[in-house]
Amino acid sequence: MCEEKVVTTAETLYQLQQADDDVRAKEKRLAKVEGQLGESEELHAARASLEEAEAELYELEKKQRQQELELKTVASKIESEESRLYGGRVTNPKELAGLQKEVRYLKERRVDIEDSLLETMMSREETASRVKERKATLEKIESGWESAQSTLATERDQLESDLAELQRRRTHLIDEIPPDVLSTYDYLRRLKGSAVAQFENGMCMGCRVGLSTVDRHRAKSGDLTTCSNCGRLLVVM
Ligand SMILES: [Zn+2]
Repeated sequence: MCEEKVVTTAETLYQLQQADDDVRAKEKRLAKVEGQLGESEELHAARASLEEAEAELYELEKKQRQQELELKTVASKIESEESRLYGGRVTNPKELAGLQKEVRYLKERRVDIEDSLLETMMSREETASRVKERKATLEKIESGWESAQSTLATERDQLESDLAELQRRRTHLIDEIPPDVLSTYDYLRRLKGSAVAQFENGMCMGCRVGLSTVDRHRAKSGDLTTCSNCGRLLVVM
């Protein structure tokens, strides 16, 4: 009866180790998944680059409206000054000369505004097509990101539920292991990463060193044996 209990303890320890290895791997993966959840650098950059082009476009549209308004104002001023000039009501030569000069100046001004307006319109077109391109890029990144996020969220939920299940399993297994054996297990795990090794063909599978005849005998008989080379707890499977 005693022998049977010891073998059970070794097997239970082995199962505990498998559960702990699983916990370790899943926690590592969970940390990675959680790091990837949320907005990516690529997404931030694409959004910022679109916002920049949109702001530029907004300014150019504003500039265009101002220039168009200015052009309209100058044109109507030319019209009114010309009607005064040719209307026949102004007869004073000095005043007429002044009006002529004013009209000339206004027409030069109109040419300048038209040139600037053309420049603004060209920039606006370029910027508008840049906005369109960047919007398409952002949408592409967003759709890829959204599907990746949903996959990651599903994986995170699965990992969390797996970990909860593993913790329940761990609690059950620990209940079956004597406290002193458990503290040896914890100590070896901290020290070596793994605490339990299989014993196969006279060899410890943890360090791959053959056991002494005495240890072989003890391990086979079911006594809880530690490898005299690496110190791991041995389990005969
Ligand atoms: Zn060993």
